[in-house]
Amino acid sequence: MNLCDPRTIKDIMTAFGLSFRKEFGQNFLTDIGTVEAIAESCAGDNTKTVLEIGAGFGSLTHELALRYENVIALEIDQGLIPLLGYTLSSDKNARVIEADVTKTDLGELLADSFKAGGVAVCANLPYYITTPILLQLLDSRLPFDSITVMVQSEVADRLCAAPGKPEYGSVTAYTGYFGECRRLLDVPAGRFLPPPKVDSAVVRIDLYKEKPVVPKDEKTLFRVIRAAFGQRRKTLPNALSAGFGELSKQAVTEAVTEAGIAANVRGETLSVDDFCRISDRLTEKLSAAEAQK
Ligand code: SAM
Repeated sequence: MNLCDPRTIKDIMTAFGLSFRKEFGQNFLTDIGTVEAIAESCAGDNTKTVLEIGAGFGSLTHELALRYENVIALEIDQGLIPLLGYTLSSDKNARVIEADVTKTDLGELLADSFKAGGVAVCANLPYYITTPILLQLLDSRLPFDSITVMVQSEVADRLCAAPGKPEYGSVTAYTGYFGECRRLLDVPAGRFLPPPKVDSAVVRIDLYKEKPVVPKDEKTLFRVIRAAFGQRRKTLPNALSAGFGELSKQAVTEAVTEAGIAANVRGETLSVDDFCRISDRLTEKLSAAEAQK
């Protein structure tokens, strides 16, 4: 069975009484070269298990099952579960679970998999929920070998942007704190059924085993990143003041300059390292302010 053939996909969907559900972001890949390339490049030497989010028709799940010891594939759409039983009937190492990833405790689900070896994430993400899923994966702190995801091309631009580029934003800096992001391949809209409105790209995030920069307080770092991009037109001290109302404008400006950064810069020019240095100065000032209360 050719799981990337549009005719086969339509016929089997019809046989199971299913149609493509837009609300779940169902755009299935129909290009075998692309599916193989994603499956090939999503893991490291040590990877034994791949977690797929959104199995859909099962084409990527199948290619993953051919390459890795275990595949755990989540799928929110109850209707697709019996269909996946059919399309993946030969893939005994692929386990499909009917679940909404955002309501799934991935640590619990993957506890045994992590004990058995490396775990990587591979997904052609539903566009309506790309960023929340990425943040869930990063916030989980699970030691994935890597996270490889297909996202809208414009989201890939943002994830992989360098400081100073217009695409560089809070998600870039946040992701950059956890790992290194690379754009692997561009995927035109015509390689999906039904075709989405925009082109896509595959990005791979290699999570740091040891982060190159570690702030004194992570929560403060994340507040700094949010505030810096919250008010893009403002200079950094002004933008940060809006996010750190408990400190005076003067204290915030000092934190910026003490971190070795000019007070007239904007957040989008700063690296994660810069944000960390500012965050550490702010952490000190927050503690001092707290002690004076
Ligand atoms: N992996 C298939 C492929 O590459 O052709 C399908 C990808 S399609 C873009 C996204 C899939 O994710 C759909 O099958 C959709 O039903 C599923 N999905 C959407 N939201 C989900 C969620 N919250 N949790 C798990 N799966 C979800």
